[in-house]
Amino acid sequence: MQDIKELSLKELEDKLFSLGNPKYYARDIFRWIYQKGALDFNRISSLPATLREKLSAEFRITGLTLADKQVSSDRTVKFLFELVDKNRVEAVIIPAPGRVTGCISSQAGCKFACNFCASGLKGFKRNLSAGEILEQVLYLKNASGGKLTHIVFMGTGEPLDNYDNVLKAVRLINSPQGFNIGARRITISTCGIIPGIKRLQDEDLQIELSISLHSAQDKVRSRLMPVNNKYPLGELMKCCREYTAKTNRQITFEYILIRDLNADLAAAQSLAAWLKDLKLAKINLIPANAVAELKISPPGRAQINTFKTYLSKAGLTVTLRRERGQDISAACGQLRLKYEKN
Ligand code: SF4
Repeated sequence: MQDIKELSLKELEDKLFSLGNPKYYARDIFRWIYQKGALDFNRISSLPATLREKLSAEFRITGLTLADKQVSSDRTVKFLFELVDKNRVEAVIIPAPGRVTGCISSQAGCKFACNFCASGLKGFKRNLSAGEILEQVLYLKNASGGKLTHIVFMGTGEPLDNYDNVLKAVRLINSPQGFNIGARRITISTCGIIPGIKRLQDEDLQIELSISLHSAQDKVRSRLMPVNNKYPLGELMKCCREYTAKTNRQITFEYILIRDLNADLAAAQSLAAWLKDLKLAKINLIPANAVAELKISPPGRAQINTFKTYLSKAGLTVTLRRERGQDISAACGQLRLKYEKN
């Protein structure tokens, strides 16, 4: 059975027309699914009963099932979904004052094996379809009582390694006929896939780009993130300069601070040296979540403060992200890993 969320508005209009129905029903269907959160064609009361039956026989709205759910004391909620082929992906709702962010997955598993990330531990399974990506948004929107305001592609997988499906989903998340979430409230986070960044700079979309940097020293970054062997810092920074020059948009650099690895003063100096010429850069420092399997832990508070102060004094824009959901398996891939081990 086909996932109706794979269809664009135009494709659905054409499909309805071929079934002998007016094209304008497509807008009703979109409104009911993406704005009202309908998961069943029978809820779409504006459609004739015969069309609802035909749609139910030919299409499905949902394909994900909930395999696990954890709620943190800070109200972060983590979901583990099972896909139709039994692969599993994670998504998270992160409430904060004035915003509710949905963190979603783009692939089942991941090829890139960053060694601070539980998602890479079990290898790559497959790309998610645009419909599977959209369904996570639909689920999180319903679960948040319709309050979802922001979307980040920071769950399982590398979004720029599944470029076409991710961009198709992004367009529908952004579309007024879809979820109608402003482009500046949608963030794609990449480990530094240069061809994907280059493609993104040519899209007519004002979405946010975030790059997982985590070290500004090639030797350390290659150890942390094997993708650095393919796209080393020099080439990545050149690409970032082109991106900001072309789009005039800021890039956020995510930097997980890991004890005894990338959190000393020399690491801060390397980071400042790489980023000082890059206009429109922001650094987001994230103390590591302790992950027993990966043998990583965060540095002490004093070292975090020294790192941050150095960057600020070097003239860089830097924020320190408060860890969310620390009492649940909130780090990337942890819930899936726990489930698979059990
Ligand atoms: S951090 Fe992202 S790119 Fe790296 S292994 Fe995890 S999911 Fe893949």
